[in-house]
Amino acid sequence: MNADPVNLLNQLGAQWSPDMGAYLAGDIELADMRCALCGGKPCQCPPFGTSEYFALIDRVHGRKR
Ligand SMILES: [Zn+2]
Repeated sequence: MNADPVNLLNQLGAQWSPDMGAYLAGDIELADMRCALCGGKPCQCPPFGTSEYFALIDRVHGRKR
């Protein structure tokens, strides 16, 4: 297992929120992070598991099905 917590957080930050870097740097609080999927603060994602939710993920990842 190679679970470097810093690398892990960097990977998560790249995928989860554009504000993760600022959070890790102590510039903002966790509650001030925008959602990586919808960009909302607070999060405005559709309920997990719904077709709207997966459509949002596909859009964020630049995929088309
Ligand atoms: Zn969201």
